[in-house]
Amino acid sequence: MTSKETFRAPKGTRDILPPQSLRQRALTDLFAEMAGRYGFGEVVSPMFEDLGVFQRIGEGTDVVKKEMFELVSRSGDTQLALRPELTASVCRAFAQHRPLTPWKVFYQGPQFRYERPQAGRYRQFTQVGAEALGSDDPLLDVEIIALASRFFQALGLTQVRLLLNSLGDPEGRPAYLVALTEYFEANAESLSIQSQTTLQTNPLRVLDSKRPEDAAVIDGAPLITDFLSDSAAGHFASVCAGLDQLGIDYEIAPRLVRGLDYYLRTTFEFAADALDAAQNAVGGGGRYDGLVEQLGGPATPGIGFALGVDRILMACDAEGVFPGPPAAADVFLVDLTDGTQSLALIDELARGGVRVDRAYDNRSVKAQFKAADRSEAPLAVIIGEDEVAAGTAQIKDLVTGDQRSVTRSELLVEIRKLCS
Ligand code: AMP
Repeated sequence: MTSKETFRAPKGTRDILPPQSLRQRALTDLFAEMAGRYGFGEVVSPMFEDLGVFQRIGEGTDVVKKEMFELVSRSGDTQLALRPELTASVCRAFAQHRPLTPWKVFYQGPQFRYERPQAGRYRQFTQVGAEALGSDDPLLDVEIIALASRFFQALGLTQVRLLLNSLGDPEGRPAYLVALTEYFEANAESLSIQSQTTLQTNPLRVLDSKRPEDAAVIDGAPLITDFLSDSAAGHFASVCAGLDQLGIDYEIAPRLVRGLDYYLRTTFEFAADALDAAQNAVGGGGRYDGLVEQLGGPATPGIGFALGVDRILMACDAEGVFPGPPAAADVFLVDLTDGTQSLALIDELARGGVRVDRAYDNRSVKAQFKAADRSEAPLAVIIGEDEVAAGTAQIKDLVTGDQRSVTRSELLVEIRKLCS
């Protein structure tokens, strides 16, 4: 006896089936459309890169240390990794191709992180994002943040908060790191074991801990905003003024640090209040002047963000917005001949821009009408031997039950009128 193994999607991954997949596509299409309007062009980069691309930029971070899917090529001599995010790939592409600046690009696609799966946290998830390289104008920071904010608004989300911080620059940051490290070391015994370990490698990341036992110590920690150099403080003030000018609300969040440690100056995150606090980050980003250089390119300032599509859709569910496009066809064909009429009609109507469906296997009229009802299409086109002989077709409104005859040559025009 042979036992047949049944397979499921790997842990932490999901199949996204219709109609949910249509909704996801509508969301990424809307983002692409909006990014285009703000002057960003799409960059499509590989799903895997040389491991070094990610290692070089995030050695001290969980994403790179613990969460990467590493691959070894068949020859065994190339170490690769599935991308855990796209900023590194975009900077690698910039260093490789040296496009004219400012280089404004957007992206969409899956990212891979070996995380402990839970609701809103997957091992394969989709992000949309945008990056702008080659300028450190604070008004560019404003424009980038505006693109993300306006996107959330366009989806109909009203409970997404923008949290804003500055992580300072190489002038002011060392003094802050010294003060922060001294403070945490003095209070180390009150920190969780995990944060005590993080403290050894990356004191900034301790601020990111969501563990309740760390909360009191974090609350008393020195604030980066008290350590900004004049130039970083000026940059931050311009960003705030630009957001004020556009009427985009934000909260200053002086303890906001981001998971990847290449950020400096402007950093931001979007929190969806309709989601559970543990998984409420729907996106984030910031300025990363210096990253292109680390990847072998010329010194180039940059700023960008990534938004988590899976979580944004969860937030849309929670707020009851962005239902996505209707899944049903416009027209269901009911074929009373041997089915060959439908074959030609599908071809004609689909090519003419109509979304059309039918039944198969020569089903009875009753079964075909049942299928039409189930499909939720608003219209049926009925064709039998009489219609074939007369060169006509019947159009039936499946909501009111009204039915009328049109000539075959007018059918497409009539249907398009009814669908518009
Ligand atoms: P990050 O690059 O970590 O700042 O991620 C940007 C956004 O991607 C987050 O705010 C989340 O919305 C989303 N995200 C990150 N990791 C995951 C994950 N494992 N599963 C689902 N969404 C994620």
